[in-house]
Amino acid sequence: MSLKLPDMGYPYNALEPFIDSKTLEIHHKLHHASYLKKFLTAIKGSRLEGMEPEEIFINISEHPADIRKYGGGFFNHSLLWKIISPNGGGKPQDDLMDSIVKYFGTYEKFREEFTNEADKVFGSGWTWLIRKSDGELRITTTSNQDNPFMNVMRIRGKPILAIDLWEHAYHMQYHNNRDDYVKAFWNIINWHEVSRLYSKKDMQISWFELKA
Ligand code: MN
Repeated sequence: MSLKLPDMGYPYNALEPFIDSKTLEIHHKLHHASYLKKFLTAIKGSRLEGMEPEEIFINISEHPADIRKYGGGFFNHSLLWKIISPNGGGKPQDDLMDSIVKYFGTYEKFREEFTNEADKVFGSGWTWLIRKSDGELRITTTSNQDNPFMNVMRIRGKPILAIDLWEHAYHMQYHNNRDDYVKAFWNIINWHEVSRLYSKKDMQISWFELKA
């Protein structure tokens, strides 16, 4: 399929007051669009053009650095827009909640661990909740636009929840108070989509799924 900048499915001001309209607009129209443009340039005419994200990232060490940077950037943001929503917040349900309790003890402990992991990140990166093939949940962090599908990561799995910790994601609104942005993020998590990604046994996430 030909890759396009995904629509978020909600207007830029829909996540206020947690993420302001201007921040979201610049994040989508400038940052995300630029990752896509550079990714398309990097894969043009190569066999990567027909590949799904996981097929590309699983061999990322063999591809040029631009694929890692811009392919990562395009995928990570496409996933991010799906797992946040104006109707977000609350708690996970069903299978996902059961597994959170199984692997972290309680939902509150999971939330504390994820928050601590995100607060620890120095420089640009992401914190993730991933599903391993046997259903195990893990929290992990990556630098720059790396993600847990990539074979250069120590902890790997299917990403089902992500927070963008680059300054462009929060700095205009929260200035240097990144911890406040991480705290606010819990109000917009789309647990319905996170649960869908968790329950789906397939370890891939297709480009098609990330279209709005
Ligand atoms: Mn970003």
